[in-house]
This record gives sequence, structure tokens and C-alpha cells, in this order.
Amino acid sequence: MPAMQNPPDLRPDLSRARLTETRRPGQPTIGMVSLGCPKALVDSERILTRLRAEGYGISADYSGADAVIVNTCGFLDSAKAESLDAIGEALAENGRVIVTGCLGAEPDYITGAHPKVLAVTGPHQYEQVLDAVHMAVPPKPDPFVDLLPAQNVSLTPRHYSYLKIAEGCNHKCKFCIIPDMRGKLVSRPHTAVMREAEKLAEAGVRELLVISQDTSAYGTDWKDRATKFPFLDLARDLGTLGAWVRMHYVYPYPHVRDLIPMMARGMESGILPYLDIPFQHAHPDTLKRMARPAAAERTLDEIAAWRAECPDIALRSTFIVGYPGETEDEFQTLLDWLDEAKLDRVGCFQYEDVAGARSNALPDHVDAAVKQERWDRFMEKAQAISEAKLAAKVGTLQQVIVDDVDEDGIATTRTRADAPEIDGNLFIDEGAEGLEPGDIVTVEVDEAGEYDLWGRLHGQG
Ligand code: SF4
Repeated sequence: MPAMQNPPDLRPDLSRARLTETRRPGQPTIGMVSLGCPKALVDSERILTRLRAEGYGISADYSGADAVIVNTCGFLDSAKAESLDAIGEALAENGRVIVTGCLGAEPDYITGAHPKVLAVTGPHQYEQVLDAVHMAVPPKPDPFVDLLPAQNVSLTPRHYSYLKIAEGCNHKCKFCIIPDMRGKLVSRPHTAVMREAEKLAEAGVRELLVISQDTSAYGTDWKDRATKFPFLDLARDLGTLGAWVRMHYVYPYPHVRDLIPMMARGMESGILPYLDIPFQHAHPDTLKRMARPAAAERTLDEIAAWRAECPDIALRSTFIVGYPGETEDEFQTLLDWLDEAKLDRVGCFQYEDVAGARSNALPDHVDAAVKQERWDRFMEKAQAISEAKLAAKVGTLQQVIVDDVDEDGIATTRTRADAPEIDGNLFIDEGAEGLEPGDIVTVEVDEAGEYDLWGRLHGQG
């Protein structure tokens, strides 16, 4: 799944995290290469937080590290190949490598290609990763220097942070091996999520990106739950923290309708009018062959109802083209659906087999050339929709969050409709020198492109 297939061509699941840190002399130091999705990034942050609390330094480059942890992704064969490459690179550059993450569930696959790795641990095996680090590079705590960090090590800029609310998934989509790798849905307790979110907000985080495999199913795994849909309670409480709250990986279960009024309350509600919903396809037969959850045929009606209640809602989704058995007719249905749904942001992947996925055994795999041709047609349409939607924003006032201000005084910001790394940006070319990352300001949009906007500062938001 090459990154360039998914405009704008940055996704958290394809990008590598960076971080820098000052170290004391003689401090044992660990490097981290974090691959995979935002959920894996959260795991990397947890590992680094623990290590730092134990007195380890964190190195941003291979040469400064006593050992390197590679947090791998094993979702697609291409992601596995990328993980093996990253392990090879870390071995060549540093030589002392500990592997963890999703691909760690297949240790033989890793040691077959790279027999010299020091240890392989699977997803969420925090203790085992720490044990492996202790073996490779014994800790040397210095109580006079090492203070417990006030907040977690964060691999995302300080003004936004991912907030993982659950792990695992109860579905069995045929193209996906996540339930095999990560197990069934286990939701974190409401109080634990809120405590983490409050700490983040107190530490200056202005935007919380709520993630899990199946966010709107949050809490449905609890036997004795006080309310039917704990997701709605969590959303309501997160919305009181004064930070933007952005919901990712939300399946359109009927109770999601009750989230829309919170989004419709505009600037006074923390819940952004933004839904990231992995629709994957629109034809009922394709969805059935995928065994997708919430694969109702009435998603267009649902979208219309959301928009009637919250006209500003931004919808993002991902799709798979060339799924086994996808006929031209099915694909055309998807294009027509897209025409009607007019989603704000879309990503599209060409289907590929994943070792262990049940879809591999389905009949009628689609030719590579046909997949490419469908992908091109899909992207052409998606791009035209995105362009038209952005053009309609010219002349409007938008509240934006500042991500960066460069030395020429150009600010990179995002509107409420744009998640970091996967969606577009709004650039302010003039008068932005005084802005800082995390500032929330109001901008008048004066120009629109295919994926990005440009605008002028209007006032503090
Ligand atoms: S909902 Fe489907 S695609 Fe998503 S994690 Fe669960 S099984 Fe995989």
C-alpha cells in the first residue's frame, strides 16, 4: 500500500514518529522506530514513558542509542515488508535491535529474515519489551537527575495527542487479521480514559484524537454497564475538557446519531463535527463478502440525517477497491454512492492479500491492472469532490489550530474538518509570526486547492 496512493500522502499508519531529548552523560539510551497505525504509536509512547521513568534517555538517531526498539506493523504484506526493512536498517545502523508490535506475533517470520535481533515481543507486551531492554541495556537510574516525567512521552506534537480508549475488535472482517493479532474488544475504564485525557489537557494538549479499532463500540464489552452506550457518556465527558475532541474509526451504528447533537453545538462543544468512518465499500454484496459491521444499505440516509442535524459535519472515510469478486457493476455503485455521499476526505487502497486473512481464499480475485484502473477512477472522482467542497469554503470564517510556524512566518494550521497527518491543511502566508503551535484562531479563507486551503488571520478564536 504505497503512501502516494492516499492523498495527502501522509498517514499516521505510514509515517515514522520523531522525537528529541536531552541526555545526561553515561545515561543508558534507547532509540525507537515506530511504524504502523496511531494505535501502535500510542503503544510506542507508553513504552518510552516507562523507559524514561526508569532513567533511560531517548535517542532521536541510531548512533546515539545503546539499542533500538522497532515497533512493527503486520497488517498488510506491504506493511510487513516495510517492518522487515526497518529492522534491517536498525540492525545495519545500530546493531542492537528489539522488535515489538503486531509483527512480533510472528517471531519466526522476523528471526528468519533477521536472526541477529536481540528479542521479539508481540503487541501490547509492554513488560516483555521492558525486560528485553533491561537485558540489552541495564538501567542506571540517577535519583538526583531523573525526575518522573510530568506527562507521558508523546510522539505527536505537544498540542495534540492520540487517546486510545479500547483495544481489539469483536468483528471478523474477512480482509483483516487484527482480531487474531489483538484479540477481542477490551475497553479501558471510563475513569482511566478520563484521567489520561484530563492530564493531557492540563499539560497543554488542545486536541485529543480518540482512537481504537471500533470506537463507537466502546464499553459494549462491559457486562454490568450502567448505560447502554458508554461511548456517548465518554464523548459527553471528553467534550467538557476544553480541548478539541476528534473521533476516529467510528462505525455508523444507530447510536452514533446521538453523538451528532453534541457536534452540532458548534464552538461551545468540544466534540468536533468530524467523523472518521471506515466505510470500505458501498455495494451491499461487496460489503457482505467483506463481512463488514454496520454494513447497512441505508448509509446515505444516515449521512443525510447527520447533515440535517449538523450541516458542518466533515466526513472522512477509507475504501478498498478491487476486493475479490468486485464486479464492474459493484464498483460503479461505489462511484455513484460517492457522488451522492460527497465525503469531505477519502483514502483509497487497492485490495491486497494479507497472510492469514480469510479473504485470500475468496474466488475471483481482481486483476492488478483492473485494480489500478478502478483506483484511478475512484481518486479522480474523490479529488473533484474534495476540490468542490474546499472551493465552497472560500470567503468563510474557519476556526483553526496552529501546527507549525516556519522561519518565514508561514503558519500551517488545520480547520476543525482536518485531522493531523491524514487530512489537509490551511496555510496562513502573512501576519502569522506571533502564532504558536496549539493556538486556536479564526481565519478567513481566501483560496482553495485540491486538498488544502489558504487564508488570512481574522482574530483570536
Ligand atoms: S472492524 Fe473489521 S477491519 Fe476493523 S479491526 Fe475489526 S475486523 Fe478489522
